[in-house]
Amino acid sequence: LEEQLTHAQKLEAIGQLSGGVAHDFNNMLGVIIGSLDRVQATAELDERSRGRLGLALQAAQSCADLTKRLLGFARRQKLQPRELDVTSEMGRLRGLFERVLGETVTATLDIPADLPPVWLDASQFEGAIVNLVVNARDAMPEGGTLAVSARLVDLDAGEAAMANLPAGPFIRLSVADSGTGMDAETQARALEPFFTTKGPDKGTGLGLSSIYGFLRQSGGGLRIESEPGAGTAVHLYLPPMQNPESSREEAPRAAAADLT
Ligand code: ADP
Repeated sequence: LEEQLTHAQKLEAIGQLSGGVAHDFNNMLGVIIGSLDRVQATAELDERSRGRLGLALQAAQSCADLTKRLLGFARRQKLQPRELDVTSEMGRLRGLFERVLGETVTATLDIPADLPPVWLDASQFEGAIVNLVVNARDAMPEGGTLAVSARLVDLDAGEAAMANLPAGPFIRLSVADSGTGMDAETQARALEPFFTTKGPDKGTGLGLSSIYGFLRQSGGGLRIESEPGAGTAVHLYLPPMQNPESSREEAPRAAAADLT
């Protein structure tokens, strides 16, 4: 419980901090990039200076990209849930998977047609899935397999405890790759905001932590199963709307209650 609290507090603190700081930072970066751009366009520069200016521009651009992601992270706290059909959402995302994964990864999609609807923010859900697929691709530089599957499950006490959820029905959406897997430290820290093993240019460390935050706020959860050298499965637990007619009023309140 203590661990969870720290994590929730961290997420909240980072949300607030990144919202304010990233916004101001982004404005200043705009000035820097604009000025460098103008110098590059107008000044007579020797080759060396031009090269240095190019590097400075590139670095400033990377900073701007990161701040944009931070702003997105801060904004993620405000969810707009609606009734969502996982089967059709995943069907819609299929083409995107193929584009992200390229030709070296074989992907399979196993989503039953009769899943109950869930109550979730659609764009956050889409972002979460894309993020997981990108992580899977990054873990399979030499290619491999990606299996995306969904099941309506009745969580037993054991699985519920591992996912920090109450026992009961959930839609378990699993994204399983045959990639590098995670060592013990990475697995322990993977949900921490800003934890990344990909280096500052490639990773932000905000992927899994954002997905986790989003799902917790939505009444769901996330569990990672990983074995170094064998692969990783990320299981998302989505709260089903058992009775769409009556829970339409209930679900958003439940999500909002989780926010406080
Ligand atoms: P990022 O992708 O920017 O590093 P994430 O929060 O999405 O941030 O992931 C944190 C870390 O967890 C990654 O740097 C990586 O070490 C590990 N990770 C995430 N997904 C996978 C995966 N599918 N296979 C192996 N390692 C993973």
